[in-house]
Amino acid sequence: MTHPAEWNPIPHRLDVRCPACARGAEFEFAEVVRIERKADIPAFEAHSQLEYHRFTNPSLGQDWHGAVFFAGLHGSAQTLRDLPDGYYSTDWEHPRYLRAEVGLGWGSVRCSCGLRQKHTLNWPLEAYYQVEYRGHGLWAFHREAAIDLRNYVASEHRVRSNYRWEAMLRHVPSAFLAAKARDTVVKRLDRLLK
Ligand SMILES: [Zn+2]
Repeated sequence: MTHPAEWNPIPHRLDVRCPACARGAEFEFAEVVRIERKADIPAFEAHSQLEYHRFTNPSLGQDWHGAVFFAGLHGSAQTLRDLPDGYYSTDWEHPRYLRAEVGLGWGSVRCSCGLRQKHTLNWPLEAYYQVEYRGHGLWAFHREAAIDLRNYVASEHRVRSNYRWEAMLRHVPSAFLAAKARDTVVKRLDRLLK
């Protein structure tokens, strides 16, 4: 399976298939900030908007402490209050998602069906914008990238630099770019985009 960490940079928000209703839902990565002083741990354990977690660095075997924020559940990091001295709400705004530090796809999912919960991402298995063609899979991060993908496959000359999601287009399996695949693949993408 392709690990999220291999898609660098993976966007902060992705369109996934809702675990409840299977329609398009929004996944948002959780953010982590390292807790430097052990004395600050109790304040993070008691915090109503943050979660304290202990992590192990797999290469060093060392433990480290982190305060995790699920923006998809609590709204913007700007709402963070009552932080220990030396921490600022903006610390949780920077894209330091948990996939990078500990290889976890921690985050939350929100859907128009009412679902709103924590969720561990299984990417690209859960991509909402994904199509299959002759046993190969093709997917896009979200709607905007799926539109790029659709237009790229449909285009005659396929100039990747014309697209914002150029890096993603580099991974399109050649089977999808064969002339005979074009109509079928575009039709399948259009169905998801309509
Ligand atoms: Zn749903």
